[in-house]
Amino acid sequence: MNVPAVTDLASALAWARKRIPAPEARLLLRYVRRCQAAHLVAWPEEALPAAEWEIFRNLVERRATGEPVAYLLGEREFYGRAFLVNPKVLIPRPETEVLVELALARFGAESQLKVLDLGTGSGALAITLALELDRADVTGIDWSREALGVAMSNAIRLGARVSFLCSDWYAALGNERYRLIVANPPYVAKSDPHLILGDLRFEPRAALAAGEDGLADLACIAAGAGRHLEKGGCLFMEHGYDQAAAVRSLLADAGFASIASWRDLAGIERVSGGCWTG
Ligand code: GLN
Repeated sequence: MNVPAVTDLASALAWARKRIPAPEARLLLRYVRRCQAAHLVAWPEEALPAAEWEIFRNLVERRATGEPVAYLLGEREFYGRAFLVNPKVLIPRPETEVLVELALARFGAESQLKVLDLGTGSGALAITLALELDRADVTGIDWSREALGVAMSNAIRLGARVSFLCSDWYAALGNERYRLIVANPPYVAKSDPHLILGDLRFEPRAALAAGEDGLADLACIAAGAGRHLEKGGCLFMEHGYDQAAAVRSLLADAGFASIASWRDLAGIERVSGGCWTG
C-alpha cells in the first residue's frame, strides 16, 4: 500500500477514513496527538511528526482488523468517568449503567451501605457505586487477578475507596452480609456465534461465556446471594436480551421477593433482581 512518509492532520485522517469510520479515525488521531476534537478542525494543515504518524497508522490498521477502540485507547467512559481497560477485562457497556441507576434510585438516600460487586472486571460498577453513594463500603470481587489489577488502578485514579478480593463468586467471603449485591456476570451461551464477531472476539472469554445457555453464573449468584444479603437487601444482575424470564425464575427458586426486571435504553429487559426477606 502507498503510504506517505510524513503528513499533516487532514491527510492522515483522509488516509484513515478509507479504512475505518471517520469518528474512530478522529478519536485515534486525538489520542496520538493528545488534542481536543476542535484542534483537528482548526489546524488541518498541522504537520504530524513521523513518530506519531507511524503510531497512528498502526492503530488504524489494528482497528481495521477489528480490535476494539477501547483497547486501542486503553480506556472507556462509564457513567461519566474514564476507566482504564485492557484485554483482561470486559469493556464497560452503556447498558450496564441501568444497574447503577437502579441501585441509586433504590439506595441513594441511605448512608454507609455495604455493597458487593461480583465479577468486578475493570471495577466500573464497584467504583461508580463507591463514588455515587454516600460513604458506601464497597467490595469488588473477581476471579481474575489481572482484572483486579485493572480495577485497583481505576480505583486509585478515580479516588474511590473500594476493597478488592480475589474469589470464585462468594467462595472467599466468609459470613459477610451486604445491603446490596450487584453483578454483570458472564451470560453469553458458549455456542453463541456473537462470541466470534466484533469486539467480543477480543474480550476475555471468561467474562462473557457461561455454560450451554449462558445461565450458569447467573444461577450460581442467585442461589448463593441469600447467605450474603442482609434482611431487606437486594440483588440486581445484568443478563442477556432473552434471559429476563429465566433469571426471574432463578430468583424465585432462590427465595427472593419483589422480583422484577428493568429495561435498558434500547427497551430490552437487561437487569433483574429481587429483595431478600430473610
Ligand atoms: N453485554 C455483553 C455483550 O455484548 C455481555 C457481557 C456479559 O456477558 N456480562 O454481549
